[in-house]
Amino acid sequence: MSILDDWDDAEEIDYATDPAWNCVDCDIHTGLHEEYYMVHDSVWKLSGLGGNDGMLCIACLEDRIGRDLTPDDFPVLPINSGNFFSALLLARLGRVPN
Ligand SMILES: [Zn+2]
Repeated sequence: MSILDDWDDAEEIDYATDPAWNCVDCDIHTGLHEEYYMVHDSVWKLSGLGGNDGMLCIACLEDRIGRDLTPDDFPVLPINSGNFFSALLLARLGRVPN
């Protein structure tokens, strides 16, 4: 079972190859890497990116802001409540031990 199971084949291909999902800094696909999330605007601003400037994986966002993310950095939203997250993102959300 994966997040892609509900998607038809055409959408899955678009999703996997759509460069809009790629981390601006390291180019990994944030969706396939299971790091699709939102942080508070005040945290995102520290990255130097605007709201429509692209996506960052967790490691690259932390590089840019100079510290590890904490659960307080993430608003309570459905996007941050899924089950298809990388181990690093789950740790930053406080859902597994760091
Ligand atoms: Zn990255």
